Amino acid sequence: MIQPTVRTLCRIAVFGFLLFCLPTAVTSGAAMPDSFYLPEIKTDHPALSDVDIVIDVGHGGIDSGTFYGDILEKDINLSIAKRTYELLRQQGYLVLMNRIDDYALSGENLWLRSKSRHIKDLAQRAHMANEVNPKLVISLHVNAAKRPSTRGAIILHQKDERSKALASSLQNKLNAYYGIEHDPVYGRTYYLLKYSKAPTVIVEVGFLTNAEDRALLTSSEGQQALAVKVAEGVVAYLKEQEKGSQP
Ligand SMILES: [Zn+2]
Repeated sequence: MIQPTVRTLCRIAVFGFLLFCLPTAVTSGAAMPDSFYLPEIKTDHPALSDVDIVIDVGHGGIDSGTFYGDILEKDINLSIAKRTYELLRQQGYLVLMNRIDDYALSGENLWLRSKSRHIKDLAQRAHMANEVNPKLVISLHVNAAKRPSTRGAIILHQKDERSKALASSLQNKLNAYYGIEHDPVYGRTYYLLKYSKAPTVIVEVGFLTNAEDRALLTSSEGQQALAVKVAEGVVAYLKEQEKGSQP
């Protein structure tokens, strides 16, 4: 028997100020055509138009990301994301975070029918960003390496030139902060980079496996300093793009 249920179509949060849900009636059942899942949130809702930046907050809920003892990547991502959000908002940019607390996005996914929780989570992030159509997407993550000496930030980009420019801008700011020269990397195999239409980068803000980075990643001063650099990188890119688009 097919029972209609109400699900949350979209939980996009403007952190601290707005959490809106667009409920829609969906019907669960094997015979349902895929098209039934297609969301209709092409709306004139003021929070969905003219968005400058989507912050994809890596992992959440059951998915902790990488970890070191009881230090979980998902918590660091969220804390740095909130700080970055505030910094960008203060400069007048319209910013959306795709999670503001500790939950998995896979449970929300209506865009892709997949048995893989991981894929559903990633699909939710990419397709939600595509609905919002921002100027750019930054996906915040924390890295891990076999060698404990490996440290610093690494930015992964799409094939797209604007994604590369955004990655360079972020990489430069974070390299200067760390005093380490990393190059941005083409993240060919990453789902989000593949399917997100706006210029998108994955920002690996530091290595949890390195003691110095870990101290930064787990202290409020370090998180704030990293958020400042991420915000600076985003703003530098946007200013560059604005210059380029002027006649
Ligand atoms: Zn991660």
